[in-house]
Amino acid sequence: MPTPQGETRYQLALEMLTADDAGRDEILSKFTRLTSELLNIPGSFVSIMNEHQQYIKAARNFSLQQSSLEDALCRHTLASGEVMVCPDTHLDERFKAHPLIKDSPYIRFYAGAPLKMRDGAIVGTLCVTDVLPHIFTEEQVKLLELLAEIMTAWLDAWYHTSLRDVVTLLPNRQSLLRDLEQLEDGGIIQPYSLVLIDCIDMARAYDIARALGMYALEALLQNIAALLRTRLQLRDDDRLYTVSKGRFALLSAGKTSGWPKQLSEKLGQVRARIGEEIAIDLTLHLGEVSFAPALCPPVEALRRGVSALHEAIGQGLPYAAFDLESDNRRKLDFLLLHDLAEALRSEGGLYLVYQPQISLHSGLPVGMEALLRWQHPRLGNLPPLQFLPLAEQTNLMAGVTDWVIVSVLAQLKLWRAKGINLPVSVNVSVSDLAREGFADWLERMLLRAGLSSDLLSIECLETEKLLESPDAMRGLNQLKLRGFTLALDDFGSGYSNINYLKRIPMDVIKLDRSLIAPLAADGGSQIVARHVITMLKELNYIVLAEGVEDEETLLMLRGFGCDEIQGYFCSKPLPAEGVEQWLKSGKTP
Ligand code: C2E
Ligand code: CA
Ligand code: CA
Repeated sequence: MPTPQGETRYQLALEMLTADDAGRDEILSKFTRLTSELLNIPGSFVSIMNEHQQYIKAARNFSLQQSSLEDALCRHTLASGEVMVCPDTHLDERFKAHPLIKDSPYIRFYAGAPLKMRDGAIVGTLCVTDVLPHIFTEEQVKLLELLAEIMTAWLDAWYHTSLRDVVTLLPNRQSLLRDLEQLEDGGIIQPYSLVLIDCIDMARAYDIARALGMYALEALLQNIAALLRTRLQLRDDDRLYTVSKGRFALLSAGKTSGWPKQLSEKLGQVRARIGEEIAIDLTLHLGEVSFAPALCPPVEALRRGVSALHEAIGQGLPYAAFDLESDNRRKLDFLLLHDLAEALRSEGGLYLVYQPQISLHSGLPVGMEALLRWQHPRLGNLPPLQFLPLAEQTNLMAGVTDWVIVSVLAQLKLWRAKGINLPVSVNVSVSDLAREGFADWLERMLLRAGLSSDLLSIECLETEKLLESPDAMRGLNQLKLRGFTLALDDFGSGYSNINYLKRIPMDVIKLDRSLIAPLAADGGSQIVARHVITMLKELNYIVLAEGVEDEETLLMLRGFGCDEIQGYFCSKPLPAEGVEQWLKSGKTP
């Protein structure tokens, strides 16, 4: 059966079986001992044969270690595929003049059974032998056959679980680590290159498996392995591994810095086949690390390769070389997320500040936006944009939003007791909106706090993501139904197609600072802002301008018909007590 490597499974099995492996051969020695004792013949051995040689992998009372296939008696067992018995070689025309009979090890009696692997390929023999002739009964033949079967079953299992990937038949991750260890032990300081190649993301792999079955996925992986092997044009000392499903590694000696680019070009666009009819286009990502094996522990070399690969995947690049700086940054990011999880658990470090929102019609405060801050134990005060985008990529974001909402509700209760009844808006991400039962949970929390839902507004940004997520759209509609005020954040930055507004149930549109900041100085921006505000007002939205930093801008916005403003001109975001003082001072514009 041809395999992805263009070799046969048989050859691969032979390659593994002929290679040195002390652990395996120790077990084989126990098998030979058992065989000799059960059959009552002093000599026994296990041999593995390729097309040229016979290798004795374990033996008892038998001194031969290797012979040419030509000389091997076992050649006849291999050819017949059955147990072969020769009670006395001196009486057998085939062997009379044979070198192993005339000379050491002076084989006089021989009985051999073929080692037939699961797929029928014969890789060697289990034999009993002696320097004296023997009569070998039918019962002994059966016993030898049985022992050979048990031994092949064991070898088969050993072969499959040890160092090969069962699907692609390439050496596996364990095998890569073992090879790296050997290079390390050999004190190799000449540079080596390890390239991790990602061909198929797991989500996609499971989609294929679910739709077409596991065999289809395996066929695809085999096809990818075959394609890689052909396109990479491997040299003798290059080694290709399967490190996990759809992920490969190439280990090669002495490569230059342009190597990942060259490889990526060699690989080009890969279209892999699942069956006769179906083919899919794959996006390949490569991550490369150069290292001196003696100076870099195997696990670290692999980690660095994977780190480079993740950099390439994360950036959507065809290849990336390991970069210590970005690796350190990632480590820091990871630590930061770890600390954030800790901060959420321990109720220390995180706190909220509130920025007032003022009505341009009455000049009075109409609400506040809650903004998150983090007093990090070592890094000091961190702005939200330093840790929230990281949290967004994990399930920590839900914890952050819940923390903010619980804290805001507690603050609203405190303020109510002091006679302050301004609504507070909180920022939520699309992943929050998509959470099952988010609106119900919010409603329950408010009910429990004895607060009405018009005291809490929800600000959301990332319009494009929102529109793409049916779950988030459903969540948004549920919030609307339960009476929460919904505000669209950062309008006018990035993706701002007016058409989509009709599809999302918003009450307030917050104009992004980038639209507001240039107003005082730039006539063109004034025209844009005026038209945007007019249009939004015609569509019946409440329009709030963010980032108002001076009076001139405020007056202009009032002239354009803008409803509310928020910005440093009125107040910076303040801690709760600061807000109370600010409200008392009555310093509103
Ligand atoms: P955002 O929602 O657009 O919040 C407004 C940001 O503009 C705040 O930055 C605020 O401090 C800043 N700002 C307000 N007025 C002015 C001004 O006049 N001039 C200038 N230059 N800046 C002004 P901050 O607090 O650093 O927050 C940044 C972003 O982080 C927020 O942008 C929001 O997207 C996100 N964020 C903050 N807190 C939370 C939170 O609790 N949850 C979520 N999901 N995101 C949050
Ligand atoms: Ca906001
Ligand atoms: Ca904003």
